[in-house]
Amino acid sequence: MPIDATQPYDDSNIFAKILRGELPCNKVYEDEHALAFHDINPMAPVHILVIPKGGYVSWDDFSERASDAEIAGFTRAVGKVARDGAMVTQGYRLLANIGKRAGQEVGHLHVHIFGGQPLGPMLA
Ligand code: 5GP
Repeated sequence: MPIDATQPYDDSNIFAKILRGELPCNKVYEDEHALAFHDINPMAPVHILVIPKGGYVSWDDFSERASDAEIAGFTRAVGKVARDGAMVTQGYRLLANIGKRAGQEVGHLHVHIFGGQPLGPMLA
């Protein structure tokens, strides 16, 4: 069920549990600001999620409340994960769902990285 991204951050969400090590993930990258892991239900041959280490519901509160260091570190991590996957030669897609209309299911900011096949038009 999609979440209301205007609600305060709730650290009982699945990705907060992954960050705390209470749930497993198939990790591909980690640094001070970000953790990246494979999506449990991949929608493309490459489907990686990148999450910030801080508690932000979505891009909305992240872009408003996060420090410049967090924003820069997280953004660089997204780029690094995509580059390390060597996807830039063929192209890839970044996506962040924010709130109900976008179908955001997990209340911790995550950027999807899709690749490994032609991805089609954006809103198909
Ligand atoms: P959203 O719709 O919120 O943008 O995307 C949530 C994503 O999280 C979905 O693609 C879903 O498959 C993924 N997901 C949900 N639960 C888990 C989990 O426990 N582990 C992993 N690795 N991915 C999850």
